[in-house]
Amino acid sequence: MATATLGHLRDHVRGESIMPEDPGYDDARRVYNAMIDRRPRVIVRAESVEDVVEAVNFARENGLDVAVRGGSHSVPGFGTGDDAVVIDLNRMQLVEVDPDRRTTRAQGGATWGAFNDATHAHGLATTGGIISTTGIGGLTLGGGIGYLSRAYGLSCDNVIAAEVVTADGKIVVASEHENADLFWAIRGGGGNFGVVTAIEYRLHPVREVYGGPMFFELSDAADVLRWYRDFIVDAPEELGGFPAWQIAPPLPFIPEERHGEPFIAFVSCWAGPLDDGPAALKSLREVAAPMAEHVGPMPYPALNSAFDALVPPGLQHYWKANFVKELSDDAIAAHLEHGPRVPAVNSTVHIYPINGACHRVAPDATAFAYRDATYATVIAGMWPDPAENDANTKWVRDFYDATAPHSEPGGYVNFMADDDQGRIRDNYKGNYDRLVDVKRAYDPGNLFHLNQNIKP
Ligand SMILES: Cc1cc2nc3c(=O)[nH]c(=O)nc-3n(C[C@H](O)[C@H](O)[C@H](O)COP(=O)(O)OP(=O)(O)OC[C@H]3O[C@@H](n4cnc5c(N)ncnc54)[C@H](O)[C@@H]3O)c2cc1C
Repeated sequence: MATATLGHLRDHVRGESIMPEDPGYDDARRVYNAMIDRRPRVIVRAESVEDVVEAVNFARENGLDVAVRGGSHSVPGFGTGDDAVVIDLNRMQLVEVDPDRRTTRAQGGATWGAFNDATHAHGLATTGGIISTTGIGGLTLGGGIGYLSRAYGLSCDNVIAAEVVTADGKIVVASEHENADLFWAIRGGGGNFGVVTAIEYRLHPVREVYGGPMFFELSDAADVLRWYRDFIVDAPEELGGFPAWQIAPPLPFIPEERHGEPFIAFVSCWAGPLDDGPAALKSLREVAAPMAEHVGPMPYPALNSAFDALVPPGLQHYWKANFVKELSDDAIAAHLEHGPRVPAVNSTVHIYPINGACHRVAPDATAFAYRDATYATVIAGMWPDPAENDANTKWVRDFYDATAPHSEPGGYVNFMADDDQGRIRDNYKGNYDRLVDVKRAYDPGNLFHLNQNIKP
C-alpha cells in the first residue's frame, strides 16, 4: 500500500491516526483483555462521524480488516486486529439528555459511566451493564443485560434510533421509520452491520435504588439458588440482580478473616419505591442469613460502578455463556460442584434474569431471539497472571461442560469467546436467516467481520 494513502487518511481525519512507528502506538493498540496482543496497521481515534466515514472508506478501498472499538471490553478482542484499521470511538462520548421527552442521544464510544452520570442528573436511567467502564456500543448492539432488564427490557429494547456508518461509507439512520431492517438487526446482531456513531435511547425514572451485594456461606448455596429459581419467575419486575459465585474481596464490610474465601453472593437492585426495597429481599433473608452484606439505598450510578475495581483493564479473560430456561436441580448441582472452585477474586459466574419486560418483546421483534429464556449465564474467567492461564481456562471450560447439558444451545453473544463462532446460528435461532439477509443488504463484502460474525 502506498504511504500516501495512509498520509491521506491522517490528513483527512480530525482525530489522531496512530501507526506502528508513532510514539503511543503500544498504548493505543492495547485492549482490555491482556490475552489479546495484535498489531493494527493504523488506529484511528475518531472524533466525528466524518472521521469514521474516512476510516471505513480507507479500510474498504485498501482491502484491510476493520476493528471497531468503543469501551474495549470485548473478551475475544474484537476491538483490534493484526494489520487492521482500528476505529476507536473512545473520544466520542457525548451524552445529551432530553428530560422532557425522557430520551438521550449518546455517541457510540460512550461508556455506561458517562451515560449514567448524564442521565442521573435528571433522575433518569435505562438498562445498561453492571460495570461502568463497559461501552454502550458493544453492549447495546449485542442485547444489553443489566440491573434494570426485568423492569425495562434489554438495552436494545430501549433504542429509539441509531446513526450508522455502513460498509459503503454512507451515514444512515436506523429506526422504526428509516431502514427498519437495519434497526431490527442492530438490536442484538452486534457490530455486524456498520459503525454505530450515536444511539438514541428511551429513559425511565430511576434515581436511587435499594440494593448491593450479600455474601452467603457455601453451606447455604443450594438454598439460595433454589430460592432464586422459584422467586425470580414472578418476582416484582422492579427487582433486578443475580446470584454470583464470588471470592470475597478485601472490602471493609467483609470480616478480614473471610477475605479470599469463595461464597455464593446475591447482588440486588430494587428500582421501585425505596421504602419497599427491604421487603423485596425479605424472602431471601428467610432462606439464609448473609455472612456479610452491603445493601442499602444508593444512587443508581453508584451501584453501576460498585464492582469496577474488581475488573480493572489488563486482566486475562476467558468467558463462556449460555441461555437457560429452567434452573433444574441438575443444573444447580453442577453449579454447586464448580462454583466453589472459582479460582481468582476477579473471576465470577453470574446467572442474570432476563424475564419480566424482556419477555414482553416478541422473539422476532428484534434480532435478540431468546425471549423465552429465563436466565443468561456467564462464566467469566478473569485473572491477573498469564502463568495461570491454563488453570483458569480449564475452570471455565469444566464449568461450562457441566452446565451446558442443562442449558439452551445458544448463548448471549456478548459473553462469548472467539472459540464460540460455531454457535452463531444457535445464538439467534429463528432470526438467523433474516440477519443474513440484512447483512447481505448492508455489508455484502463482510467488511465488519471482527465480531460474532454473521456471514453474508
Ligand atoms: C468487565 C465486563 C463486564 C461486562 N458486563 C456486562 C453486563 O453487565 N451486561 C452485558 O450485557 N454485557 C456485559 N459485558 C459484555 C459486553 O457487553 C461486551 O464485552 C461488549 O462487546 C462490550 O462493548 P464495548 O464497547 O465495551 O467493547 P469493544 O471491545 O469496544 O467492542 C466490542 C465489539 O462490539 C462492536 N461495537 C462496539 N461499539 C460499536 C459501535 N459503536 N458500532 C459498531 N460496533 C460496535 C464491535 O464489533 C466491537 O468489536 C461485560 C464485559 C466485561 C469485560
